[in-house]
Amino acid sequence: MPLLEVEGLFAGYGDVPVLRDVALAIEAGSITALIGANGAGKTTLLRVISGIIRAERGTTRYDGRDITRLPAEEIVAAGLVQVPEGRRLFPTMTVHENLLVGSSSPAGRAKRAENLALVFELFPKLRERQSQLAGTLSGGEQQMVAIARALMASPRLLLLDETSLGLAPLVVDEIFQAVRLLAAQGMTILVVEQNTALALDVAHHGYVLEHGHFALDGPAGDLARNPRVKQAYLGI
Ligand code: ATP
Repeated sequence: MPLLEVEGLFAGYGDVPVLRDVALAIEAGSITALIGANGAGKTTLLRVISGIIRAERGTTRYDGRDITRLPAEEIVAAGLVQVPEGRRLFPTMTVHENLLVGSSSPAGRAKRAENLALVFELFPKLRERQSQLAGTLSGGEQQMVAIARALMASPRLLLLDETSLGLAPLVVDEIFQAVRLLAAQGMTILVVEQNTALALDVAHHGYVLEHGHFALDGPAGDLARNPRVKQAYLGI
């Protein structure tokens, strides 16, 4: 049984439809890439899965449970946690305080010390910068804090929205090494990326979203070799 299963999903903003009949299945322990042009609806899909916006039709099942109508905080508490595009840190709070915000759910609170040790192991820079204000960090370090904050909630499924956007290649490598490590330890990860080459390199499976509908999906390696994907998303 997939850890996350989306079926017949329709969603949008007011009377502006965005997603049309979207279906998706994510196996536990895998990395899945969601690619597509600007405005295709990738962020909207993540928002529906996280319960930030409501589906008009369709269902989202997580770990066998229907979460379609669950409030966002209950979805986080169940272990489905999103790292939003643009990071959304609290810039005038320290790194440590930002991390504690991530562990405010009961499950997160119970494992606070353990999770803090894990995120410092994953991102040693953050240990050194614990008392620094988040707004004064580099973009890459801020992205690490955003991921670390999500990890403080003990996720089983992590949704990463545009993680590499605006970051230098070396920092992107460092962050995606950490993402690979998390998956190797059993975490399930969904990455939304404008950087298609990166997404298909890190992922096992990929989905191509076009105008609110999946046009293609398959093993990431197959998609990377697909002429249509190459031309439209890899610039080859
Ligand atoms: P990007 O990478 O540029 O964010 P995306 O594939 O994630 O692209 P979405 O952000 O999901 O795309 O946007 C899909 C469509 O929904 C776009 O046409 C966008 O203008 C529209 N949209 C997004 N957010 C809102 C909103 N809050 N209100 C109204 N329309 C929105």
